[in-house]
Formats: sequence, structure tokens, C-alpha cells
Amino acid sequence: MTDRINHWIDGKPCEGVSERSGDVFDPATGQVRAKVAFAAQDDVDAAVAAASRALPGWRGTSLAGRTRVLFAFRELLSARRHELAKIVTSEHGKVESDAAGEVARAIENVEYACGAAQMLKGGFSENASTGVDVYSISQPLGVVGVISPFNFPAMVPLWFVPNALACGNTVVLKPSEKDPSAAVFIAELFAEAGLPDGVLNVLHGDKVAVDGLLEHRDVKAISFVGSTPIAKYVYETGTRQGKRVQALGGAKNHMVVLPDADLDLAADAAVSAGFGSAGERCMAVSVVVAVDPVGDELVAKIADRIKRLRVGDGMRPTSEMGPLVTAAHHERVESYVEAGVEAGARLVVDGRGIEVDGEDGGFWLGPTLFDQVTPDMSVYTDEIFGPVLAVARAEGYDAALELINANPYGNGTAIFTNDGRAARRFQNEVEVGMVGVNVPIPVPVGYYSFGGWKDSLFGDSHAYGPEGFHFFTRTKVVTSRWPDPSQGGVNLGFPRNS
Ligand code: NAD
Repeated sequence: MTDRINHWIDGKPCEGVSERSGDVFDPATGQVRAKVAFAAQDDVDAAVAAASRALPGWRGTSLAGRTRVLFAFRELLSARRHELAKIVTSEHGKVESDAAGEVARAIENVEYACGAAQMLKGGFSENASTGVDVYSISQPLGVVGVISPFNFPAMVPLWFVPNALACGNTVVLKPSEKDPSAAVFIAELFAEAGLPDGVLNVLHGDKVAVDGLLEHRDVKAISFVGSTPIAKYVYETGTRQGKRVQALGGAKNHMVVLPDADLDLAADAAVSAGFGSAGERCMAVSVVVAVDPVGDELVAKIADRIKRLRVGDGMRPTSEMGPLVTAAHHERVESYVEAGVEAGARLVVDGRGIEVDGEDGGFWLGPTLFDQVTPDMSVYTDEIFGPVLAVARAEGYDAALELINANPYGNGTAIFTNDGRAARRFQNEVEVGMVGVNVPIPVPVGYYSFGGWKDSLFGDSHAYGPEGFHFFTRTKVVTSRWPDPSQGGVNLGFPRNS
């Protein structure tokens, strides 16, 4: 019998009222491993109602009390990190060491949220006017929605949930329907850590669940991560409903290799960042911009490394790259390989038709490399989100920069060089939110914030770190005077400071 993955509402599993459900696959075998419940509007209402009921109690819990739960959750998550990594691998397909890295970065965000007491301190100005004190306080927004993508089923929910809870909000999390079990595991651990019922709810499903949260009047804010068209839709719909929205979208990340770079290190980085997690990372390098004259040598070095990559079931310790997440996604990615060939790009390594030992039904696509890619080709313009790396050639630094700045996405980028002056110029001139200097995947540490520019982010708050605390609170400024009979008297003039 196929397992069923239920919602988590009010501190317990909940089947929901909807008859609809979705298949969750083991991407390495292509078999359906479970069915996940798809919420109907009544399920959305039940989750939001549970979060609303829990709000006064959680908001009223002392900072020390809320922080204690986060510390306890951190300990549990750390102790059971391998279990969570296995869950990620079983539904996403990424290799376990990669999944363990995802969980480690998730823990970093929990640790940051444990510092809530420091983050939520307000300002205080004594005697701003004679006998008048002014101070600010940061308060929670209320019930907030978190909607996450398939590619980081543990880390992305934990970009938002810890900070949202630390600030005193209650949460409805809508994880990706492709790999929903990590979110349930996280909710169970939070319950074990002492989080009261209803403070964190997990609602599974598709557009119905997302629209239900976007339209619900009791949901005050939405943190979304996913593809650009949906991010834009979520931003526009949510803000039209008067909600605070941060919506992180897709990417096309360029890695520039200048002629003075160490080409072996650059090739290592391009392969690691292009094919890690089968390219299903929003910070994956998808375009290498080889600045003349290094192109031929760099392509040869990348191709050489690709041929040695071990593709296989993510559960096997020997595998370096796993399958794609679903058959539909596999088909879409393969269609880009075909389109690249038709458009005239040079297919240096073809990953189609790869055979993986004993895993016939899996959603396999081997690492694929194109050279001589130009900006008019769909392998360049579109986010493919698979193990397809494109090399574009540029005559010089200026041409490379122009290419990146003309691209509608602006999530991550990197420059490989030994020239500090060129690197400084690049960090100053490139129109991208996260920049690596000889670092191919510059995901900011938990005490900075994560976010792209242009079509990679809608809204003005980045995720986690200080901007996360800012997003999940609203500030109140109090101007206070304690009555003094000597200051009586009616005065209709606009108050001025004295
Ligand atoms: P997706 O946009 O298909 O789905 C994201 C979420 O939106 C899921 O929870 C899904 O159920 C929901 N959704 C899907 N279609 C919807 C619709 N029509 N209406 C309302 N909701 C809908 O993204 P995905 O395929 O799960 O994830 C991959 C994408 O996420 C890539 O584009 C990747 O770049 C992006 N991503 C971005 C970041 C970032 O920080 N910028 C991080 C991770 C992933």
C-alpha cells in the first residue's frame, strides 16, 4: 500500500477534506513512494484558523520562552540531521552528502534565529523633548504563509520559519508537493521541541492551497520561493490583497573566467556548481563566460572532469550526482538539450541516454555541456534547472559584464581571477544580488541575507538574516511623557521639541 503524507494542523497529522492528492516519487527508481494530500479551501481555512488561535499565546510568550523552543529545536535537528538528509534524498534525488549540506545550512538559520533577543531590541531616546522619551518596539505581523520550492525541501522552509517564529508570528507552511515529507519532519521536531499546537502548520497541495493563502484575509504576509512566473504572480496577488510579500524567483547564474584565472580551479568550480544537485539549485552556475583566449582550454578541462562524474542513486555513498526530481521535469530539461543542438550550439558532452546501474526507471540525465552558446538560444535565455552547462565566449571583461547585466535574472554570479582590481570592479558593476569572487556558489551565511535582483526577487526584503527579522515584524514608535502638573495647559500648535 502506498503511504499517505498528511497535512500537519494544530499540532497533529490531518487528512484534510479534499479527495485530491499527488504522487511523490523516488526519482532514482521512478516508482511512486507516497501520495500527498492536496488541500481544498476548507483545509486552508482550518490551517489558518489553527494559526490564528495559537497567535495570542505565542505572541504573548516571552522572548526567553520563544528562544528556548528554538534552541531545543536546534538540538533535535542537529541530532537527527542524517534522518532529515535521507528524507530529502528519498524524494528529491540529490545525493546524501549534498542533502546533509542543505541541512547544515538550514541549521545555520535556526542558530541565527536563536539570537532573537538581540535582533528584536528596539531603540530608546531618553528626553527627546523635555520630559519626553521616544522608543521603538518590533511586533509580529500575525499569521504568515511560507511557500517553498522542491529543490531545497528542508533548507528553504528553514530560511523563514525560525525567524518568523522568533518574532512571535504563527506560520502556515506550504511546501512543494514534489517532496513534502521534510516539512512534516520539521513540524514534528518543532512539536517535540515544545512549540505549542497551531504555531506551525504544514499544508500540502498545489495552486489551490497557494491561492487560498494569498486570498485569506487572516494571512498577513507571504514568503515565497520558486520560479519567476509564479513568484511574480504571488507577489502581485498577495500585495493586491494588502499583504506584505517577498517572492524569490528563478535564476540564470553566470560564472566569468578571466584569462589570468587558474583554469584548473575554475573548471573544478564550474563542474561542482553546474552539476551539484543535478543543476537543480537556484544558485547553480548555468553559464560559464569564458573570456578570450581561455575558452578552448577551459571547455576541454570541464569536459574532462564531467566524464569522471559518478551518476547514481543518491542513497549510494559513491554517487556524486543523482536523478532529476520528476519525469515531467526530466522531459523538459531534455527538450532544452534538443533545442540547443537545433539552435547550433556545440554539444561537447551529451548526457542523454545515460545508463545507471540497476536503476532503469529513474529520471536520469547525465551531465551535459554546450559550447559556443549565444544569447538568442533558449539554452541561454531560459532557466533549465538541470545538469546542462552552457559556455559562452566573451572578447573581454566588458563584454562579459554586458552579457550578465543584460540578462533579466540577477540571483548569483561569480568571477574567477587572480586580479584583485578586476574583481573589485566586477563586484561594483555587476547587477546581481549575490556575488562570488573565486567562489562559485556565493550563498550568504545565515547572518547576512539571501536574495537576488531583477526577475530573481519581487519585493524589497531578502530572505533570512537581518532582513528576515525586518520582514516578519512591524515597528511601532512610542512617544511617552509621564504627567507633570507644571506642563499642563491647552496648546493647539503642532508639537515641537523643546
Ligand atoms: P515552482 O514555482 O514550480 O513552485 C514553487 C511553489 O509554488 C510550490 O510550492 C508550488 O506548489 C507552487 N506553485 C507551483 N505552480 C503554482 C501556480 N500555478 N500557482 C500557485 N502556486 C504554484 O518552483 P519549483 O519547480 O518547485 O522550484 C524551482 C524554482 O525555484 C526554480 O525556478 C528555482 O530557481 C527557484 N528557486 C529560487 C530560489 C531563490 O532563492 N531565488 C531558491 C530555490 C529555488
